[in-house]
Amino acid sequence: MSRILILGGGFAGITAAELLSEGAAAEHEITIVSASRKLTFFPALVPMVFGDFLPEELRTDIVAPLHERKVRFIEGEVLKIDPVSRNVRITGDDVDGDLRYDYLLIAIGRRLATETVPGFFEHAHHLLGINAAIRFKHAVSEFKAGSIVVGLCPGSSLPVPVCESALALADRFKAEIGEGRVSVTAVFPETLEQGLAGTGLFRQVEKNLQRKGVRLVENFQIGRVEKASLFSADEQELSFGLSLLVPPFRGQTAVQELGPPEEEEGFAVVNSLMQIEGSERIYAAGDIIALDGPRFGYLAMRQAKVAAANILIELSGEKPSVEYTHELAWILGEEYTDPHFFHYGVWDETLRDFDEDALLGIARRVRERYGHIRSERNGGNDASARSGSA
Ligand SMILES: Cc1cc2nc3c(=O)[nH]c(=O)nc-3n(C[C@H](O)[C@H](O)[C@H](O)COP(=O)(O)OP(=O)(O)OC[C@H]3O[C@@H](n4cnc5c(N)ncnc54)[C@H](O)[C@@H]3O)c2cc1C
Repeated sequence: MSRILILGGGFAGITAAELLSEGAAAEHEITIVSASRKLTFFPALVPMVFGDFLPEELRTDIVAPLHERKVRFIEGEVLKIDPVSRNVRITGDDVDGDLRYDYLLIAIGRRLATETVPGFFEHAHHLLGINAAIRFKHAVSEFKAGSIVVGLCPGSSLPVPVCESALALADRFKAEIGEGRVSVTAVFPETLEQGLAGTGLFRQVEKNLQRKGVRLVENFQIGRVEKASLFSADEQELSFGLSLLVPPFRGQTAVQELGPPEEEEGFAVVNSLMQIEGSERIYAAGDIIALDGPRFGYLAMRQAKVAAANILIELSGEKPSVEYTHELAWILGEEYTDPHFFHYGVWDETLRDFDEDALLGIARRVRERYGHIRSERNGGNDASARSGSA
């Protein structure tokens, strides 16, 4: 009997749990430890702010479906991983102590490093969680006139919600922008092309920003936020009446102790088999891994599939051999609601993980509801264009 321990119950963790529970013999014990028993479907946060999704539609309890698959769930925080004794230190109501593993998958996602941008908490909005997104939605509904700045902080790898929000704000305040009472500015730490990983997508985004009257500010490294201004590292100033920022991302301290180089900032360094180099039987997948370019849920799922496949191979006594290929592909241009949302990865029909009874069945339910809105408002027209891969 082997103990397979999965840390994190997000896109990567539950994808791996599903595959492992299907593929591993019943004698093996699979456990997920996660800080929350609920999965948040992040891709629908921007549509929730600008569309009519209800917050409760974006959260789903994963415990009962995991139990059905004979996967144990422990609610708790991962504090420390000891690769020598093969123990993970957990704190929480369910367990406060060490859990032993034979195989480990680290899928605890990234940390929001808002502390690296002074003034972020006090003066800026973000939408990387349901409550924060609700607060921003409220602020938008109260906003009457002035400048709105939407920006990506240096060290963040989530450019798409910035583009989506800027375009959605331009739609929301179309009349006011026309009358010169409201302006919308989108800020990037490098060029838009670099922010979108050099994919051809940036041309379409740039065109749409222009068409909707959104001012694009590139190479502005947000350094601090004051009451009504953003300051770049070289002290340029951008004033705002309302701001929405995507904060810098960092890895997690539990991973730091596995020895990634300091410049990786707590992100796990993996090889193409999704194994942590130098640590036996430890895999990592999802936003927690060190990766250039944007981080996406569908990549997290693909990485988790590779890690799970290799753990299954190891369980059978063979050498892991399944490799991960990094490829970005996205679809732009489907107008599901009045604003302009992008569709990539988790919205894509080609990912077959969204059966109603799959753990990520929430994705399918959200997408169906989205499709319903689209067909009501746009007569089901689908003006999508696919960009290349990077
Ligand atoms: C606004 C927004 C829009 C997005 N849109 C898209 C999109 O359209 N398409 C797409 O593909 N991607 C999208 N993404 C990105 C996608 O959501 C992430 O890439 C994905 O969630 C990463 O999955 P993960 O499993 O690595 O991490 P997460 O989903 O963040 O899961 C991490 C899990 O670990 C738990 N955890 C964290 N720390 C600890 C700890 N110390 N101890 C125990 N448990 C812990 C958390 O509670 C969580 O359950 C979007 C993200 C945001 C914020």
